[in-house]
Amino acid sequence: MNILAIGAHPDDIECSSAGTLALYAQAGHTIFMAIATNGNVGSATLSREEIAAVRKKEQKASCDLIGAEMIWMDFDDEWLMNDRPTRTRFIDAIRQADPDVMFIHAPNDYHPDHRIAGQLAEDARIPASVRLVETALPAIGRIPHIFYVDNVGGVDFQPEAYVDISSVIELKKQMLLCHQSQDSWMRAVYGEDTSITDLMMANGRARGLAAGAAFAEGFREVRTYPRTGSFNLLPGFEK
Ligand SMILES: [Zn+2]
Repeated sequence: MNILAIGAHPDDIECSSAGTLALYAQAGHTIFMAIATNGNVGSATLSREEIAAVRKKEQKASCDLIGAEMIWMDFDDEWLMNDRPTRTRFIDAIRQADPDVMFIHAPNDYHPDHRIAGQLAEDARIPASVRLVETALPAIGRIPHIFYVDNVGGVDFQPEAYVDISSVIELKKQMLLCHQSQDSWMRAVYGEDTSITDLMMANGRARGLAAGAAFAEGFREVRTYPRTGSFNLLPGFEK
């Protein structure tokens, strides 16, 4: 299968579905990680261009750890909009990956870029397969199945299915640690005690408690028409 995760910022996928992506990769599936914004406000010292370049490099290093292809959409951090040029770019991200399964942000996550990236991905799902929706890439032959990933901190998100990621938790942590520039930035904005790795590990443990595993990731299914799949598409759920 082809698997596409779409995150609003560099490091978002590593905080949510990266363990599941690692399991898919180990099972021989093809992984794409699409990043909507370039992270160009996440620095206390560098210019926007400089920090965007750093973050692209960090994201590439993370993708390389599981052999994922990076799709870098390069929109400005904090200014993601659900407009025609942006939706067109999302359609092309889906066309490039031709995914069976997509992982996107849920509609009630904390950050506007997250919520809008999720909405854009959901809205681009069907037009990606429509021939006369003309973009840089040709239409694909299927409509992908979508799962929402957990909210940051697990706040106000009740998973319907869990993937046991205990065997790849160290790999997931290494992927997140590629985003070195974000550790000091997160502490500056959200408090000295806030480490993105601690946040990710705490969420993984909490979901693991619910799943009967050391570490887990939680998902919800997008159930809009047309119905395209089920939880059986998740690693560990195969028939
Ligand atoms: Zn984010």
